[in-house]
Amino acid sequence: METLTTGLISLDDALTTLLARVIPLADSETVSLTQAVGRITAGPVISPLNVPPFDNSAMDGYALRMADLDARAALPVAGKAFAGSPYDGVWPAGSCIRIMTGAPLPSGCEAVVMQEQTALVGDAVSMTAEISAGQNIRRAGEDIPEGAEVLAAGVKLGAAQLPLLASLGIPEVSVVRKLRVAIFSTGDELQPVGQPLAAGQIYDTNRFAVRLMLDKLGCEVIDLGIIRDDPAALRAAFTQADASADVVISSGGVSVGAADHTKEMLEELGEIGFWKLAIKPGKPFAFGRLPHSWFCGLPGNPVSAVLTFYQLVQPLLARLTGQHGPALPPRQRVRCASFLKKSPGRLDFQRGIVQRDAHGDLEVKTTGHQGSHIFSSFHAANCFIVLERERGNVAAGEWVDVEPFNALLEG
Ligand code: AMP
Ligand code: MG
Repeated sequence: METLTTGLISLDDALTTLLARVIPLADSETVSLTQAVGRITAGPVISPLNVPPFDNSAMDGYALRMADLDARAALPVAGKAFAGSPYDGVWPAGSCIRIMTGAPLPSGCEAVVMQEQTALVGDAVSMTAEISAGQNIRRAGEDIPEGAEVLAAGVKLGAAQLPLLASLGIPEVSVVRKLRVAIFSTGDELQPVGQPLAAGQIYDTNRFAVRLMLDKLGCEVIDLGIIRDDPAALRAAFTQADASADVVISSGGVSVGAADHTKEMLEELGEIGFWKLAIKPGKPFAFGRLPHSWFCGLPGNPVSAVLTFYQLVQPLLARLTGQHGPALPPRQRVRCASFLKKSPGRLDFQRGIVQRDAHGDLEVKTTGHQGSHIFSSFHAANCFIVLERERGNVAAGEWVDVEPFNALLEG
């Protein structure tokens, strides 16, 4: 693997490298529709039937044969066709049949005239508008023909997809197996939530945050806990994680401090793909390969850890499950209502609130202090304000790119 540790690597280059390296999982399993939400289709889904399954009426009105229209002005009503109870008697020449929306067409029907375009003349029906053959008829298979591909491989199944499969009577679907992801935090100062803090200790935010996001993405999580800043302990964690998972995610210890051993462990046990990104927050992110798994080393600061997970790990996991389409919402240009502090050099992901201004146009304002240790900058935000690498401070009124948060960061 080419090592790109000289200088800072741009986010685009990092993503390109990462997505080019990983190969989607080949294993699939079959699950029922009710268990399929959030899963990814392992292959195309083919319709076993025509939708609609039979020719039927698009309107409440009267079913006609075109030849009968020429013969008489008003047609007697020979019977009724309702959804669920078709007309299956003999249809006498020179008559029409009362029909409701969704009812199967009586055999020989060539058009349906809507009720509003008819008038009752005694017991008979006269037409008050031009009739053309085929009008107000829904043909069998017009929506989906039998044998058609209704979903491609690599589609994430949700409320926009699963009811379609239900409507086709498909009870189960083949999906890519769940990814197994091993996680651990590194740091002598970390305490698990629920334990009292001794002097100099802080709570382990990152493992909690990463676990939450992995749960939301439908991964199986193997939680190895907090690992001390000790090469032997770290080596054991790396080895155990690699033996059990498709992806290993650590946090902390990936910078250049005396207690930062993550990168050297990756070099010892596997290979580095890249390290150190030209983004802020999130510079000390490492990606690489272990003997049996992919490795992502998130920075220790919680804002950086969540941001790099969101921007890099999320697309990586999507790729591993063969998911198609962009993992992240498109960016849009809006006016910035706040002054933003920024020094040139790195692509900056500030946290913002995008909303409509008094004129109904979108604008974005900052959530305040943007330090990578200030997690409160996240909780009020609904978007990233993405500031170009070479850009300096932003004055209020300037245009900026915003990237709305996707469902991963929502409640
Ligand atoms: P490091 O890269 O390990 O030096 O960590 C950078 C900063 O993030 C330090 O202030 C750490 O105390 C903090 N940090 C590291 N890991 C975590 C974690 N899991 N939860 C919260 N803060 C962390
Ligand atoms: Mg540390």
